[in-house]
Amino acid sequence: MHYIHIRAHGKINLGLDILRKREDGYHEVKMIMQSVGLYDKIEITLLGLSSTDEPEIDIETNLRYLPSNENNLAYKAAYLLMSEYKIKAHISIKIKKMIPVSAGMAGGSTDCAAVLKGINKLFNLGLSIEKLKEYGVTLGADVPYCIEGGTALSEGIGEKLTKLPDMPPCIILLAKPPINVSTKFVYGNLDLTKIETHPDIDGMIEAIKAQDLKGMVSKMGNLLETVTEKEYPIITELKEMMVANGALGSMMSGSGPTVFGIFDSREKAKAAYEVVKASGLARQVYLTDGGDGNERY
Ligand code: ATP
Repeated sequence: MHYIHIRAHGKINLGLDILRKREDGYHEVKMIMQSVGLYDKIEITLLGLSSTDEPEIDIETNLRYLPSNENNLAYKAAYLLMSEYKIKAHISIKIKKMIPVSAGMAGGSTDCAAVLKGINKLFNLGLSIEKLKEYGVTLGADVPYCIEGGTALSEGIGEKLTKLPDMPPCIILLAKPPINVSTKFVYGNLDLTKIETHPDIDGMIEAIKAQDLKGMVSKMGNLLETVTEKEYPIITELKEMMVANGALGSMMSGSGPTVFGIFDSREKAKAAYEVVKASGLARQVYLTDGGDGNERY
């Protein structure tokens, strides 16, 4: 095999709670992760032997501002497996980004996960999903989840995963406002001592198990909104706009700024899409669904 292409799905958080800050500075989380249909296209091609003793990895992306060197998470993933298994090959990785960047949708982590899976297959390494996740967590806390995809409970710093049944069928509207939200700023300004109510993650799990869409939406909550909505009112505006236009519920994903709305009808979701698009609050607006983050390979 000389060529492989993979869909690297983005994610949203249906629920995001922070339990505590650990002594090492990491936050202990309790999150419900959900893949979305929106994906980056990754193509890996084997070009031949490496001209040096090291793996040779060319990266190409359609976004000029993304790194096309060893700082790209796709590069790091390929390099990790190829050096570990002494594969002295020359490969090219082409990334077509569809997932908004720095948006709380794990775009980099999912590309990283896709390349780990792709290299495993391209070079017939025969590594299990569990083994790939072990490599993945060394590159990013969300990478193990991205390897698995679907609906999952994520705990610890994000590496402790429990598979859940797929979320009830629905349509998801995504809107990324044109602002940059620094993850460091968000966590840095989160004052856990001042938080009185936490999202009911266990309640959400029950609703998902019961395939109760309205119940699930009623449990949506993201603790990080306490920081971002204060700083960036555009997030609140988008949430309100989605709900005013038929969403069962709307929330920010991850540390933002992407806002999503959950709809029980495609028509309503489509109409809301048009309203959000026309409002100019977000340039990147997508209609999608729970997708199949579980790209089997
Ligand atoms: P998360 O939801 O995990 O917080 P995010 O959506 O906030 O992720 P990403 O889109 O993953 O953020 O990108 C964050 C940074 O990672 C960007 O500044 C980008 O330069 C860098 N990066 C490296 N490789 C990639 C990649 N393949 N795709 C996107 N960003 C990448």
